[in-house]
Amino acid sequence: ESALYVVATPIGNAGDITLRAINVLSIADAIACEDTRNTAHLLTRYGLSKELIAAHEHNEREVATRLIARLRAGQRIALVSDAGTPAVSDPGARIVDAVREAGLRVLPLPGASAAVSALSASGLVNDHFYFAGFLPSRTKQRESALAALRGMAATLVFYEAPHRITETVDAIAAAFEPTRQIVFARELTKLFEEIHRCTLQDAAAWLAADAHRQKGEYVILVSGAPVANDVDDAEAERILAILLEECS
Ligand code: SAM
Repeated sequence: ESALYVVATPIGNAGDITLRAINVLSIADAIACEDTRNTAHLLTRYGLSKELIAAHEHNEREVATRLIARLRAGQRIALVSDAGTPAVSDPGARIVDAVREAGLRVLPLPGASAAVSALSASGLVNDHFYFAGFLPSRTKQRESALAALRGMAATLVFYEAPHRITETVDAIAAAFEPTRQIVFARELTKLFEEIHRCTLQDAAAWLAADAHRQKGEYVILVSGAPVANDVDDAEAERILAILLEECS
């Protein structure tokens, strides 16, 4: 069936691809991808070889026009990014938007996502999460982004580029209550995978304790804003004291 298939690919472990994804990649007429070398490498692992179309931030609109013409001609086009789910902190959204606007079918092929993987193994208990993605790299903008997130009760999910991890964690620790939990989800599904949970006040020390921790890919989770029940606790204790007094 002619459609744009949005295909999730592994975030590390090559086994993390679905049977359906491999099938769609093998029957696609072409694959639009973030980086042709990266995707060629991925295809080789599954014994596939395909026409690849480079689609990155700067040419997405132009590529979309070409893909729409091919979809109208009845072709099947797959869209992948370098890792994980396309269009989530990755290129692809503009292509999907243009294809939908043209009235053509877009089908998602679910699979690996660093954010959801990190959440699933974090042990943070919360029915809600907020995907904050990458924080701004400029100090002032990052501070205001964090200030805006401070009161949110949902678990916060951040992505970060390997070289900025220390800076980002320092900024998060400075912006939020020190007793909040942070989960470092590093190199998920890869050889040096590490998932560590501690409080924000201990976060910098954990990062500094091993030079390897300054490298690698990270998802950072932060537990939601503490529920403001201090006043209630104090009131409860006051009443309990009165009751105990009465009983004695
Ligand atoms: N589209 C991808 C997804 O579905 O998760 C995200 C791509 S985004 C450009 C790359 C960021 O995702 C990294 O900087 C890191 O924050 C996170 N990431 C990707 N793979 C990861 C992994 N194996 N372990 C930890 N974080 C990862």
